[in-house]
Amino acid sequence: MSIVQRVYPGEGAQLDVLVMHCDHARFVYNVGLEQRSWWTQSRRHFRQKINYVSQAADLTAARREFDWLRAGSTVVQQGALRDLDRAFTNFFARRAGYPTFKKRSNVRKGFVVRDLSVRRVNRRWGEILVPKAGWIRFRISRAWTDIFAATSARITLANGRWTVSFTTPPAARTMPDTTAVVGIDRGVANSIATSDGRMFHPPGFTAGEQTRFVALQRRLSRQQKGSANRDRTKAELGRLRLRLMDRRGDWIEQTTTELASTYCAAAVENLPVRNMTRRATPKPDPGRPGAFLPNGGRAKSGLNRAILASYWGKFAQRLAHKMSVVAVPAAYTSQQCSNCGYTCPENRDSQAVFRCQGCGFEHHADTNAAINIRDRAFIIKHQPEDISGDRVHQSRLRAAPTTSVA
Ligand SMILES: [Zn+2]
Repeated sequence: MSIVQRVYPGEGAQLDVLVMHCDHARFVYNVGLEQRSWWTQSRRHFRQKINYVSQAADLTAARREFDWLRAGSTVVQQGALRDLDRAFTNFFARRAGYPTFKKRSNVRKGFVVRDLSVRRVNRRWGEILVPKAGWIRFRISRAWTDIFAATSARITLANGRWTVSFTTPPAARTMPDTTAVVGIDRGVANSIATSDGRMFHPPGFTAGEQTRFVALQRRLSRQQKGSANRDRTKAELGRLRLRLMDRRGDWIEQTTTELASTYCAAAVENLPVRNMTRRATPKPDPGRPGAFLPNGGRAKSGLNRAILASYWGKFAQRLAHKMSVVAVPAAYTSQQCSNCGYTCPENRDSQAVFRCQGCGFEHHADTNAAINIRDRAFIIKHQPEDISGDRVHQSRLRAAPTTSVA
């Protein structure tokens, strides 16, 4: 879990030290990567395997030799080797590709601070101790107790903005006094639907930001590659995206906390991890034949799904940090009747309405899917008289939060 706060380094010396740390982190990372790739290419020339320990020892030797390296921070430089080590661990575990060199021109650069020291100046401002730079101010927008519990931090410069990301131990789960369960589905119209009939809409750009974003994209396409103006436009686009990401991040925190405090367990679609981490592209979903295609009237909903997919993974991840989450196969949840179980594509009367061809049950399409997801994860105990009763009425009983986990 991490908390990102905006950092305001002092102009001059403090700023220079942060830039130096970024440069050193990049340099050490790249040299370390080069050393490892030599080993991969001709391992018989090396008597011992290259790992974090051997590279940290090499770093100590290099610091003795080069004054400029010694002028930097050991903590920062070792942190870069640790990053490299993690990159290789992820590569060997097939979680990531082969580590790549960090370019000077990268928009995002940063370094790690370990053995963290933070202090509170007042209600809105805190300070973090950075080696060689001293105390650097950051704006507090999250609970201080969470920031104080952090064990390490990463300071990043992206799009002209300095931020600090605190790594904190996972938050203790709140145990609500209920046995109610909820099903959660990604709705068609860029929203999240719950089995209790609620819709949660993530914040987007304001109308003004949207206009600005489109104008900037248009300007970018006209500008020459590698030109200073193009870089400036890119940075401004990046700042807009960052603002949206911050807004979405806050929304995810609030929504997942609310769900975790109302329900004891949640069911979500079981998505392949690849879909969660990669940028989604609008394409037909093999699990839901004809769900959408990037053309005609469905193109927009496909795009909306793609936007939603980009933060759905984060949403599900944060939810799982806060409450118990069960993932279920999502195939046909949008075509299945949550009342009688009859499944066919014609049940989807429109994007928004579900009308069962078998029993005539009508419901909001997204809510219907969320109920299906809930029922796939949890066996709901019914009252005996419900089984022979009116089917629509029975479904309402099922949707009521009086259900229990079996
Ligand atoms: Zn039905």
